[in-house]
Amino acid sequence: MVVEVRGFFGVYLLYCTNPRYQGRVYVGFTVNPERRIDQHNAGKRHGGAWKTSGRGPWEMVLIVHGFPSDVAALRFEWAWQHPHSSRRLTHVTRRTSRERQFDFHLRVLAHMLRAAPWCRLPLTIRWLKQEYCRDFPAGLEPPLHMPVAFGQVRAVKEAKGVKPALSEKQVATSQHCCICLKTFQDGDDDTPLHCFHPGCAMAAHIICLSQVFLEKEPHQLLPIEGQCPGCKNIVLWGDLIRHHKGCYGNLEPVLTSSQEHWANELQQ
Ligand SMILES: [Zn+2]
Ligand SMILES: [Zn+2]
Repeated sequence: MVVEVRGFFGVYLLYCTNPRYQGRVYVGFTVNPERRIDQHNAGKRHGGAWKTSGRGPWEMVLIVHGFPSDVAALRFEWAWQHPHSSRRLTHVTRRTSRERQFDFHLRVLAHMLRAAPWCRLPLTIRWLKQEYCRDFPAGLEPPLHMPVAFGQVRAVKEAKGVKPALSEKQVATSQHCCICLKTFQDGDDDTPLHCFHPGCAMAAHIICLSQVFLEKEPHQLLPIEGQCPGCKNIVLWGDLIRHHKGCYGNLEPVLTSSQEHWANELQQ
């Protein structure tokens, strides 16, 4: 089962399986993880980074996705690569000689997900390779609105000017924003957000709904949660965004035991 996501911006962790370079890791940004790992393993003549070229094979172990833009993802990539240069991560201690690169990068990531501004983003942390999956360090678990997911992901192109085909559910929902009451136009920058609760017809501009959700926290840019103006359920902003981008239905609750999760996954 491959999850398809529209508007994909991801930051990934590669792990080197070549015995000569074993234990090396690499952090990178991509809009297309499937193509990117092929490029890394094909070497720099085929678009791979020089740091990974000729040292493969590499495995893409983990990817963080759900960034609102390429710029946001690239900033995250830079800070993950250079934690001791980032003013957001001054509390992260340096790697000890006994700490493996992989463990260090996981520890840095754990701190990043809990630090501003990233702690407010509707991110998904996705393990792509079962054998590398592990729990986050105790006390450094990701914020509750960020699901930990498992399995492959595919970026789906959002063709300019072409609207994604409307599902039956979307056809049945409102044609105007429930907040500003304007009718959705073909020329709108963004397709409207819809509530994922069954039977709820709420539709709103992303910007309109985020302003409503932020009424109690006007100093923030990104909401965490709020009440759906349609069905009145409390919804996580991240869930609305993930639903919007197409990967909501495949999220699993976070389990304490990753083994248990993979056991379930393999049975399906
Ligand atoms: Zn609106
Ligand atoms: Zn609703």
